[in-house]
Amino acid sequence: MSLPNCPKCGESYTYEDGHLYVCPMCFYEWTEESLKAEEEASILRDSVGNEIYEGADATIIQDLKLGSDTIKRGAKVKGIQILDKEVNGHDIQGKIDGFGNLLLKSSVIKVR
Ligand SMILES: [Zn+2]
Repeated sequence: MSLPNCPKCGESYTYEDGHLYVCPMCFYEWTEESLKAEEEASILRDSVGNEIYEGADATIIQDLKLGSDTIKRGAKVKGIQILDKEVNGHDIQGKIDGFGNLLLKSSVIKVR
């Protein structure tokens, strides 16, 4: 039986220790359950709890001030990208007509 590669570093030296999988390269330990829980926790959700996926289209659910402009509630966001790291509390970016590519918060959108 072949063991799964390490989900952290991708190396294939995984061994089993009781119910745990262990990676000797980066010392990560995991189980099927911990992996699933981690996956679930890493899912980004919109204002109503729907999963946000790469390339999703969405609508803005509240007026957003942007300098002297306002992005109106209901404005469309196209091609959402999930940021690897939050930038000032913004965790996604997407294109809004008339505004271009903007950093946004997952809490102000609703995936369509
Ligand atoms: Zn590893």
